[in-house]
Amino acid sequence: MQKRECGTCTLCCKLMVVKELQKPPMKWCEHCDVGVGCGIYENRPKECRQFFCLYLLDENLGEHWNPLKSKMVLSYEPDHNLFAIHVDPGRMDGWRKEPYYSEIKSWAGPVTESKGLVVVNQVTGVTAVVPDREIDLGIVEQNQTIVTALKTGPNGREFDVSVVDKADEKLQN
Ligand code: SF4
Ligand code: SF4
Repeated sequence: MQKRECGTCTLCCKLMVVKELQKPPMKWCEHCDVGVGCGIYENRPKECRQFFCLYLLDENLGEHWNPLKSKMVLSYEPDHNLFAIHVDPGRMDGWRKEPYYSEIKSWAGPVTESKGLVVVNQVTGVTAVVPDREIDLGIVEQNQTIVTALKTGPNGREFDVSVVDKADEKLQN
C-alpha cells in the first residue's frame, strides 16, 4: 500500500489526458479545485480513479519528485512500456535542470534495455530520451503512438524511435 499522499497536489488534473471527459493534456480539468481536489470526486471517471503517479507508487523516488516541487508528473504506461515525464507548461525547462536531468538520463539505459522508452511530454511536443541522445518527436496526437526498435548499425546498437498511427502499429505487429 502506498505511503505517500497527494496532499494539496492536483497537478495530474492539469497535465494528463482524461479521455472520458475529452480533457486535453496540459490544461486544467474543469472539475478541479486547484490545490484542493476534485469537484466531482464521488463521480470522477474511471481513468481518474485508477491513476496514481509514480511519486505516489515508488518510494525510491526522492522527495524532489513530489509534483508540488518538481512541477512534473511521472507515469508508467504499460501498453507501450513508456515511462513518461509530463512537464508543467508553467516550468517548461524544469526537466533539464538538476537533479532532474541527470536522473532522467540515468533511467534511459535500463528502460531501453527492457524494451521500454523514457519520454518527456511537453506542451511543445514529446522528447524521447535514449542512452546516447534525445530525439524530438513533435506533437503526438491521440490516434498516434510511439514505437521503438533496437537495431544494429555501423556504430553498434542504435535505438530507433518513431511515431505511428495506432492503426498502423497493429499492422506492424
Ligand atoms: S500528480 Fe500524483 S501526487 Fe499529484 S495529485 Fe496527481 S496522483 Fe496525486
Ligand atoms: S475529474 Fe476530478 S480527478 Fe479527474 S481530472 Fe478532473 S478534477 Fe482531476
